[in-house]
Amino acid sequence: MDRSEVPRVRFRLLFVLMAALLAVACGRTAMRVMSRAVESNLRADAVGALPDGLHVTLCGAGGPLPDPKRSAPCTAIVAGDRLFLVDAGSGAARNLAAVGYQAPRVDGVFLTHFHSDHIDGLGELALLRWTGGSHADKLPLYGPEGVAEIAEGLAHAYRLDSTYRVAHHGEATVPPSGSGYRAVSFAEPSEGEGTVVLDENGLRVTMFRVEHRPVSPAVGYRFDYAGRSVVLSGDTARSANLERFAAGADLLVHEALSPTLMGVVEEAAGRAGNETMRKIAHDVLDYHASPVDAARSAAAAEVGHLLFYHVVPPLPVPGLAGVYLDGVSEAYAGPVTLGRDGTAISLPAGSREIRVLED
Ligand SMILES: [Zn+2]
Ligand SMILES: [Zn+2]
Repeated sequence: MDRSEVPRVRFRLLFVLMAALLAVACGRTAMRVMSRAVESNLRADAVGALPDGLHVTLCGAGGPLPDPKRSAPCTAIVAGDRLFLVDAGSGAARNLAAVGYQAPRVDGVFLTHFHSDHIDGLGELALLRWTGGSHADKLPLYGPEGVAEIAEGLAHAYRLDSTYRVAHHGEATVPPSGSGYRAVSFAEPSEGEGTVVLDENGLRVTMFRVEHRPVSPAVGYRFDYAGRSVVLSGDTARSANLERFAAGADLLVHEALSPTLMGVVEEAAGRAGNETMRKIAHDVLDYHASPVDAARSAAAAEVGHLLFYHVVPPLPVPGLAGVYLDGVSEAYAGPVTLGRDGTAISLPAGSREIRVLED
């Protein structure tokens, strides 16, 4: 080694040493931050921190196709100090955590129908709720007939996993009786008929039929609490029955699929020679509402606010949201929010206020 290289080697050594020390220091700082974050997350009660009222958060604003901004359908509804979900698509539990809601805090799940995108996240949700909260009671799963089959199927799929967890952590930590779902099943109501599926602590949840043929049963829900109301469409083409049950609601959370954009998908699939995708893109048009259909329902029911969810297809390019919403403001004069994961709307008790917290 040339003598002139010695200072350079020393400098490199010093640099490596400093970088190593910094990494250790950064690692320690990061661990301290992590430790505080875990503690505060475990102590936090985002549900309890909310003012009295109905609070709606999208834990999945999309449909079956992967979309980074919109996971499969999931809506979290806080009524007073209770937390419910309507549908639990893929990503439901992770999106709940992202908005500060803990899975063990979930008091029940309502299913609108049994299309896979609405139930894909159920297994993970039940597992996190059970193991995170030492629950001895299964999570209630409300829905039309068929819900018991879903609960049984999940119990079967997760049976081995539950035995491992009980063997590893003990029955006191993960009581075997609390794993999975308890189905609470109702006959699909006929047109014009509403079935009250829950009436507790001032919250009334009413199930009504929607139009998603050949999928049957298919229902929507109306939540009434403290003089405030929210209606969820589930999956439906434009439905006069939904308009009946949504009458005067503060908030309508309605699905919508854009025929214009699905036309683009269908055409592109045709050019790509993907006949399966082309046919599916065409077939789905007849059992979903268009954004303008949803807006017409919002106008007919005279709701206070329209929130779009089950946004199909994905809108990955800026500018597509405008195409999706084309014609909506002409059909419905009230305020409209195009949902994405995390969109939250609050309806405080004892007021007429509709507060959009994130859109
Ligand atoms: Zn769907
Ligand atoms: Zn569906």
